[in-house]
Amino acid sequence: MILKPYNVPLPLQMMRCLIPRYELSPKEKHDYIYLEKGHEGERKFASLLENLSNLIIMHDLLLECDNNIFQIDALLLKHKTIHLFEVKNFEGDFYIESDIWYTGSGKEIKNPLLQLSRCESLLRQFLQKSGFNFPIKGNVIFINSEFTLYQAPLHLPIILPTQLNRFLNQLNANSPKPNNNHISLADKLVSSHLDDRSYHRLPHYHYDQLKKGIVCMSCNSLTTSLMGRRVVCDHCGSEENVDTSIRRSIQQFQLLFPDKKITTNIIQEWCGIGSDKTIRRILGSYFKMKWQGKNTYYVDSNG
Ligand SMILES: [Zn+2]
Repeated sequence: MILKPYNVPLPLQMMRCLIPRYELSPKEKHDYIYLEKGHEGERKFASLLENLSNLIIMHDLLLECDNNIFQIDALLLKHKTIHLFEVKNFEGDFYIESDIWYTGSGKEIKNPLLQLSRCESLLRQFLQKSGFNFPIKGNVIFINSEFTLYQAPLHLPIILPTQLNRFLNQLNANSPKPNNNHISLADKLVSSHLDDRSYHRLPHYHYDQLKKGIVCMSCNSLTTSLMGRRVVCDHCGSEENVDTSIRRSIQQFQLLFPDKKITTNIIQEWCGIGSDKTIRRILGSYFKMKWQGKNTYYVDSNG
């Protein structure tokens, strides 16, 4: 039972929208690749957990306890235990020496077990405060089949790629249906999830500095132009109905600028194509119009 499914994390969705419109610095590029890689690993792990029955599963929780924010990749409730997973998509050779983790080339990396134990400890405090008493069992999951770890002591709470299937089969075995206590704990966790927009460091972008236009849905380039009622990509030749293109661009605008008001003018500038009439028609069809003095703006129709 997946109570909080895995979705593309908001910061990654935002980065993907930014890429065609903004020149990333080398550091920002590095952070973006790291987000994509992490996402790939979590997505893969999420698809494996889908096969488990009777267990309550939650992905990607951002919680707070006493001003400490902590992020959980995946949680699973079974019997009286909470299984906490930190998913790592590391690739290549790694080794451990005196509790310090290194890449094959000898570069020290953040010890994933320290991350896991911080998370475990904060989750334990969070549960105590919320009146739940479940033991927590944490594991770092190495999801990438190209990952090799040398000199790992036997007792570490890690699951290597070659152990993952067996581990999940064991988890799936003899799992009774969740009871009310499990459900109320899961509800508490999901309702405490914070907006992850503020947690991740994103580039400091401004509206004025972003390139405007419609991003091609296939190749992500901004070299699109309007031909009749279709938006055509000059780079890859993909075509899209103009309404769909403009609605997709409005969604990107909302994602990147949640505090900016949606007006005909700004959306026309943002899309770089379409007459006032077209933009007004699309906004009028899919959004709710509001008034502020003489000016109109639009909000989501369920807003
Ligand atoms: Zn294209």
